[in-house]
Amino acid sequence: MQRNSVIRLNLNKNNMSNQRIYLDNNATTPCDSRVVDAMVPYFTKMFGNAASRNHPYGWEAEDGVDYAREQVAQLIGADPKEIIFTSGATEADNLAIKGVFEMYARKGNHFITCTTEHKAVLDAFQKIEKLGAEVTYLEVQRDGLINLDDLQNAITDKTVMVSIMFANNETGVIQPVKQIGEICAKNGVLFMSDITQAAGKIPVDVKEMGIHLAAFTAHKMYGPKGVGALFVNRKKPRVKVTAQMDGGGHERGMRSGTLNVPSIVGFGKAAEIAMAEMEQDAKRLSKLRDKLQAALMEQLEEVVINGNEEHRMPHVTNMSFKHVEGEGLMMTFNQNLALSSGSACTSASLEPSYVLKALGLGDDLAHSSLRFSLGKYTTEQEIDQTIEWIANGVNHMRSLSPIWEMFKEGIDLESIEWSEH
Ligand SMILES: *Cc1c(COP(=O)(O)O)cnc(C)c1O
Repeated sequence: MQRNSVIRLNLNKNNMSNQRIYLDNNATTPCDSRVVDAMVPYFTKMFGNAASRNHPYGWEAEDGVDYAREQVAQLIGADPKEIIFTSGATEADNLAIKGVFEMYARKGNHFITCTTEHKAVLDAFQKIEKLGAEVTYLEVQRDGLINLDDLQNAITDKTVMVSIMFANNETGVIQPVKQIGEICAKNGVLFMSDITQAAGKIPVDVKEMGIHLAAFTAHKMYGPKGVGALFVNRKKPRVKVTAQMDGGGHERGMRSGTLNVPSIVGFGKAAEIAMAEMEQDAKRLSKLRDKLQAALMEQLEEVVINGNEEHRMPHVTNMSFKHVEGEGLMMTFNQNLALSSGSACTSASLEPSYVLKALGLGDDLAHSSLRFSLGKYTTEQEIDQTIEWIANGVNHMRSLSPIWEMFKEGIDLESIEWSEH
């Protein structure tokens, strides 16, 4: 629905320049050109099947994969043998949840997760519920963090695994992963974490944090799309997952299928670059994020920041501009500023984000939210332009809004009875 060309043309007035700005890096990141350079030879010269053990074409490909496995493992403090390459985080989440459910059926059938997880996690849990699993969905607090006492209280002797994401994709809120790991260890249950939004951006050490299974993906950290990994702990405890894809027994039997060598090599390169550069990138981006946030708070009334501000990814802010609909606001700058709104487009309607609703936001505030996710190619000039576009857009939308007028006149909007027609 955002692609309506009539609307695009009509709302051109706020946006005289043709500059396009990308602040949707939590959805996907551009591929670093150094990553592309590392991949290219593996499409053409070194095209072998990494499973071909009896000739140099296979060996070259296997060497590329082995090296990438080391790079990816190192990024999260794992052993290379603990990395299972997949097609992305969705597949890794599915493999972890369905694979543990099947493998540990004799130990128990209870799982714990939380309501703000990514759909890849929630939908996999819904699937195993149909197959006999019992799943506890912990609610989050107003700031998006889970309550650790709730977690402890939810664990029973039938609990097999706790799955709590590292950083939330919509709000950037970072869960107390280390404490969750301690609770899991104390109770003898597995701890899985979807680390997709944290890996390559902030330090993640699976051993130190007590994580036993971790899902992540290359395309959220300047690598190619269609490749990811599941970390599976090998010692204390030795974790096993039942394969969800049957075939040639690749990836130590846990994920069959000819390895996507160029993409895996690219994933490795992206991990290497992230290790070297994430600290300085995070510092720069948190300054830009804070500048954006502070300027909008200063220039506009009735703006709220969604989610805990202290335990939050350095490049993300999720803000609600009261009485302004996020999707409409994006049209004022012709979608030349790429953002995500708190409205999920379904075929029939705009649904408010379930993540923001889980934080206690009403439908209105959820619909009036925008997620700004900066990336390492974001410039200060782009942030200055963003501030201008958002401030102008919000002011413009509010100037046309009868609701805003009523609010300014001090009319209690809650008390109004809207007629249905
Ligand atoms: C993007 C994302 C995924 C899905 O990753 P794909 O590689 O696109 O399948 C899963 N979890 C989180 C938290 C994400 O942000």
